[in-house]
This record gives sequence, structure tokens and C-alpha cells, in this order.
Amino acid sequence: MSKTILVTGGSRGIGRAVAILCGKRGWRVAITYVSNDAAARETVAAIEAAGGRGLAIKADAAKLDDVAMAFDATEKAFGAVDGFVNNAGIATQVSKLADKDPQEIARLVEINVLGALYGAREAARRMSRSRGGKGGVIVNMSSAAARLGMPGEGVDYAASKGSMDTLTYGLSKELAPEGVRVNAVRPGMIATDIHAAMGAPDRAERLGKTVPIGREGTADEVAEGVVWLLSDAASYVAGAVLDVTGGR
Ligand code: NAP
Repeated sequence: MSKTILVTGGSRGIGRAVAILCGKRGWRVAITYVSNDAAARETVAAIEAAGGRGLAIKADAAKLDDVAMAFDATEKAFGAVDGFVNNAGIATQVSKLADKDPQEIARLVEINVLGALYGAREAARRMSRSRGGKGGVIVNMSSAAARLGMPGEGVDYAASKGSMDTLTYGLSKELAPEGVRVNAVRPGMIATDIHAAMGAPDRAERLGKTVPIGREGTADEVAEGVVWLLSDAASYVAGAVLDVTGGR
């Protein structure tokens, strides 16, 4: 069955890979992004080249009005959202917590915690059957950091992802009776731009060697798990947190 999917932070990295894989299934895919217009355009072209329909929406996940606007624009172009991928996220510069910049921590919490809650809230309002919705699926993008803690590098980031797991456990129970399945994916060390943004461009390759599988993962490998959770093949899966970590 064809679906309408909204992926936050879909212009680059894991969100982009999810969007393109949804496109391969022939689904309609809206992506949000915050600043990189060129990357967003390229992702839409890749979704369409893969066989789907694509739409890019500039919307800051941390702004409530932008979140509502992104759902409105998606519904207008493609119909009601069947799958919401709560993916937009950032990390702070690698350091111990005592040395972190408080402003960076504030922005992290705004996007990774507040933004994720805004996104999940909006999806719940629109998908819940008791509110006139037709059900759906939410996939929250957590991280292995939620259970590893990232000591010395990013305990602030790890704590923000711990909130994704907890959100998933609670909301999955709240929304299952509403026809909405809520799950999470916990990627491990994945080669994307996020490591350079943390000031450690070689991080995924370097730490990938310590992963039981012996290497870092790819965004495409994470996307496989996300798209499975979005699909009807996962119709009895709710409240699950899927590790895509190479055994880490
Ligand atoms: P990335 O390559 O840095 O891409 C980040 C994406 O999020 C971009 O599309 C960016 O848009 C968008 N974005 C950033 N801030 C946003 C905001 N306020 N509103 C809307 N979109 C925003 O990151 P990634 O590695 O793919 O990470 C994606 C998710 O996976 C994050 O939640 C991250 O925490 C999680 N994760 C990543 C890893 C890893 O190793 N890579 C591991 C575990 C979990 P622009 O292009 O406009 O900047």
C-alpha cells in the first residue's frame, strides 16, 4: 500500500537515506530541513529518481509553528501522514560535560528533546483515531548513546537520546489503542556529517574499529530498520527499540 511519510531532518545523513528508501517503495515523502537548501533539493531529486514523490519543507524542528506547518504542507501535497520519522537531531562539540558550552547544550535540548516532543505531539494529534485520524506509525530516532552514555564525549547528547527511548515506551502504550504504532531505532556509529559537526570528522571510522562487527555503519543500513518499522510488515511491533549498532 502506498504511504505518505514525513521525515524530519531529511536533507542529509540518516534522514536522507530513509527518505530515498521510502521513495524506492513508491511512497510519497516529505522531508524537513533547517538550512541546507541544496542538500534538500538533491534529496527530493533522489526520492523521485528512486520512484517516489518528494517534497522539501524548510521547518525548524524546535519551533512549534514550523512543526505544524510541515504537517500541513505534507497533507496538502500528499494527503494524511501515514508515517512520521522523528529524526532531526544534533550533537555538541566533543568534550566532558564540565567543558561544554551551555548555549550549545540549550540548542541540543531544544532540537533533540523539545523538537522531538513537538513532532510526536503533532503526529499524535493528527493520526489518533479518536481525533478523526486514520492511525499511523511514528519512528523516533534514538541512539546507542542512550544506553552507553558517551562519557568524555557527549553525555548531554546521550541524555537527550535517553529521552527518545522513554518517549517511545510511554507513547507507544498511549497511542496503540489509537491505531498508532510507536517505535524507535538506536543507530550506533554511523558515517554521516554529524561527527564533523562535533569537531571530530574521523570519529565514525576511528571508533568503528571498536564495534564488534569491526566497522562503522552506513545511513542506508539504518534506513532499512526504519522503513521496516514504517511498513505493514511490522504491523504487530509497538514500543520496540531497534539497535542498528553492529553489536555495540
Ligand atoms: P546529519 O548528517 O548531521 O544530518 C542532520 C539532518 O538534520 C540534516 O538534514 C539537517 O538539516 C537536519 N536538522 C538539523 N537541525 C534541524 C532542525 N532544527 N530542524 C530540522 N532539521 C534539522 O545527522 P545524522 O547523523 O543523519 O543524524 C540523524 C539522527 O540520527 C539524529 O537524531 C542523530 O542524533 C541520530 N543518530 C546519528 C548517529 C550517527 O552516528 N550518525 C548515531 C545515532 C543516532 P540541514 O541539512 O538543513 O542542516
